[in-house]
Amino acid sequence: RAKLDARGTFAFFEAALDAKAQSRRKTEVELRDAIQNDVLRPYYQPLIDLQSGRITGFEALVRWPHAERGMVSPAEFIPVAEDTGLINPLGGQMLRRACLDAAAWPDDVRVAVNLSPLQFRSGNLLSVVTDALKHSGLPPRRLELEITETLLLEKSAQVLATLHALRALGVRISMDDFGTGYSSLSYLRSFPFDKIKIDQSFVRDLGANREAQAIIRSIVSLGKSLGVTITAEGVETEAELSCLRAEGCHEGQGFLFSKARPHAEIVSLLAAQRGIDGDHAAMVA
Ligand code: C2E
Ligand code: MG
Ligand code: MG
Ligand code: MG
Repeated sequence: RAKLDARGTFAFFEAALDAKAQSRRKTEVELRDAIQNDVLRPYYQPLIDLQSGRITGFEALVRWPHAERGMVSPAEFIPVAEDTGLINPLGGQMLRRACLDAAAWPDDVRVAVNLSPLQFRSGNLLSVVTDALKHSGLPPRRLELEITETLLLEKSAQVLATLHALRALGVRISMDDFGTGYSSLSYLRSFPFDKIKIDQSFVRDLGANREAQAIIRSIVSLGKSLGVTITAEGVETEAELSCLRAEGCHEGQGFLFSKARPHAEIVSLLAAQRGIDGDHAAMVA
């Protein structure tokens, strides 16, 4: 009887593993197709200057309009794209389209694009970025590239050289999801960033515990002494917003202001900004 149970359990896990592998395989096949047919689109989420309430830029977040599954979120396919190498063509497409879209925005509005560590290993990231800028005519100072701490964990000379070369182009570099990595802060010395984005988990805990506020306060003061912009991710409530303002955080991003929206809606949002200058509540409500 015990033996039977054990076999039953094993068969159950095997079936579950099989189903998972099959679903990943299906995602891979369909994603390859979506990339080939150019159906992936960046949606854009505004970055708000917390002093003036103005939109300083937008983060491009990939969306996959899927015939059966509706709009598929990146959490479901970025890991598959990274495991299969599809992140390289996907990342290239996002970069080109984001630069093209942003070239039509006012000159003081930037676009931020997420990069996977794998794109740094591909060996052609610099030329992919240069081509996207040239093809779109977007000035490099209006492009921000978001990287994560895991990229710097490798302590690779090639990664550092690429980051320096990108920055020499005039492109800005942001440290995304700050505080969630396992690396020490020493990379802040070896590489000059332009922006630190405080991970939304710290913002989420604001109000609930004093530790979160202390952490935000120290990141803001670190950012100020390094001369970099501090952005808070995942701002959802007025209480979080006023706390972030009180701590002197420069920029915010989150559902309180707006979720990511398709490019057509961004154009009217920016037109509204020119109309109702300075009033973000009226603009993004
Ligand atoms: P991320 O770069 O940290 O992007 C922020 C994520 O937080 C986005 O999720 C955004 O929709 C979500 N978010 C924004 N405001 C709020 C809020 O107030 N509350 C909550 N709960 N969430 C908020 P999304 O679009 O699902 O993207 C998830 C992650 O997928 C991104 O995290 C990024 O790491 C990755 N990703 C998205 N697009 C790309 C891409 O084109 N290339 C690469 N390599 N990664 C991408
Ligand atoms: Mg990001
Ligand atoms: Mg983030
Ligand atoms: Mg994230």
